[in-house]
Amino acid sequence: MTDHAFATRAIHAGQAPDPLTGAIIPPIYQASTHVQDGIGGFREGYEYNRAGNPTRSSLETQLAALEGGAAALSFSSGLAAEDALLRGILRPGDHVLLGNDVYGGTYRLLTRVFAPWGIETTTADLRDADAVRAALRPQTRVVWVETPSNPLLKIVDITALAEIAHAAEAVLVVDNTFASPALQQPLARGADVVVHSTTKYLGGHSDVLGGAVVLRDDRFTEAVRFQQFAVGAVSAPLDAWLTTRGIKTLPVRVRQHCANAQAIAEWASSRPEFSEVYYPGLPSHPGHDIAAHQMSGFGGMLSLGLAAGPAVARRLAESTSLFQLAESLGGVESLIGYPPDMTHASVRGTELAVPENLVRLSVGIEEVADLIADLEEGLDRAVSV
Ligand SMILES: *Cc1c(COP(=O)(O)O)cnc(C)c1O
Repeated sequence: MTDHAFATRAIHAGQAPDPLTGAIIPPIYQASTHVQDGIGGFREGYEYNRAGNPTRSSLETQLAALEGGAAALSFSSGLAAEDALLRGILRPGDHVLLGNDVYGGTYRLLTRVFAPWGIETTTADLRDADAVRAALRPQTRVVWVETPSNPLLKIVDITALAEIAHAAEAVLVVDNTFASPALQQPLARGADVVVHSTTKYLGGHSDVLGGAVVLRDDRFTEAVRFQQFAVGAVSAPLDAWLTTRGIKTLPVRVRQHCANAQAIAEWASSRPEFSEVYYPGLPSHPGHDIAAHQMSGFGGMLSLGLAAGPAVARRLAESTSLFQLAESLGGVESLIGYPPDMTHASVRGTELAVPENLVRLSVGIEEVADLIADLEEGLDRAVSV
């Protein structure tokens, strides 16, 4: 499959027709166990479904092909995937260096679930090579980066960070949820592991929760697979199937997400109500050049700072109609959020806190003129109170 282009792999990797009936879509194997041909006589290696399920296998094959990994493992949520990866590679006494703008749930997992088990976590601005070197310790086992980051869309040079991490014998993990493999393939740039919340762009339709770990080589595969089996936060068959179905249209969806977000960023730049427009597709964005080099598009996420301050930002988030007020991102429908009280409420008052005048948009694939009109009407309502 690796000799085919991305869009072809998205549709065909792991998706061979059902050998029994020729059904073009492999069935959803909604079963908890598999009958054995004599004790230990497993058909195709399948035994009990926490250990393996054919629908999950087909998703895992598809995910590995999209990221160019040696293997992928699929989980019931993005955080379950992160948990399995971290348990698989960390031991008490290890240190994790986290970007100072990572997903709040990742920060919470490390500082509140892993800390009591002897894992120390610190944060740094991973765009700054000197700051990264200064933050590394002999015990640093993992450097964890999100690029573009949430919600300020900061961009980190993955290749440069991989070199620094590897010189310190640390593993570089990239949370590739925001870009998706359609726009950025971190393993090819030196990252060791990619994690995803497949809930977002990969699933793409806001109808299923899921997560994935994709590994560049076989160093950690068995350790993470063991966690998946021994702890059990696996994808359910229907969830795996929905994610596989979503992935088939990822390249076309992402192209439209990017085009719509770029148009909205340009529109917002011309409006005095916005004091900041955070979108890497704008040449004025500090990470624009790196993003243009390491991504094949700038993505569907953008954030806007309201010149009039937090109260108007909150009101705008409550005043649009096509942009629906909700957590999450990456679906075909547009969403708006007020990060300080929503996605980033758990990091308020910490080093990961975000500006209070911010709204975050997950730009969907509706007609962009309708989306801009919706934002204009929302702005009118938000400022006229
Ligand atoms: C949503 C998200 C996660 C967590 O994934 P869940 O599927 O909600 O558990 C991790 N990282 C990023 C960047 C996310 O947006």
